[in-house]
Amino acid sequence: MSGLVAVKARLERACLRVGRDPAEVRLIAVSKGYDAASVRENVLAHGHHLLGESRIQEWRAKSAELADVQWHLIGTLQTNKVKYCRAFHTLHSLNSERLADALEAYGERHDHTFRVLLEVNVAGEANKQGVALPDAEALVRYAHSLPHVDVAGLMTIAPYAGDPEAARPAFRALRGLRDKLALRELSMGMSGDFEVAAEEGATYVRVGSALFS
Ligand SMILES: *Cc1c(COP(=O)(O)O)cnc(C)c1O
Repeated sequence: MSGLVAVKARLERACLRVGRDPAEVRLIAVSKGYDAASVRENVLAHGHHLLGESRIQEWRAKSAELADVQWHLIGTLQTNKVKYCRAFHTLHSLNSERLADALEAYGERHDHTFRVLLEVNVAGEANKQGVALPDAEALVRYAHSLPHVDVAGLMTIAPYAGDPEAARPAFRALRGLRDKLALRELSMGMSGDFEVAAEEGATYVRVGSALFS
């Protein structure tokens, strides 16, 4: 069985365990670190066209070789790279007013509205991007005031631990914040913990290595 087919089956089972419709959780196939040929073989060949990349530079080279893809930017975005971002369906890493301002300025100039998720550093880890949980609401409110920035939801990377259950409190906290802010999307869960994320309400899971092994 291909990695993609196996991951989809696991995702579906996780949804059914908690009574969710599997169609509510979209799988973002994270192609970072894998070349275009490998992405074609392991992802696109199975009829899956929703892909995520972390770095603009790598994405620019790869996307030129891959057609018919809905791209999501999941990695940290620098303000000087905003000009490349129109092609992304969603940006998962809004983390500052400064970046929101840069998106707004570009969007106004080019008549484009960016669909974004706010990246939240739920556990307050020093080595991680994203706004701290207590600061998230203010940044969402700020972004809501910008006509060319559409805040669709929240994203997090759970603290890494060998045990996927260890990620559950972070996912639950993000969901609580999402509900409080009345947003729609929850981008959470990676190869090691996507089933727990789906159980906790993820609407996007971002899975890379499990698809290519
Ligand atoms: C690389 C990456 C993923 C996928 O990680 P895997 O462990 O390979 O599934 C998901 N989200 C982000 C933000 C990433 O950088």
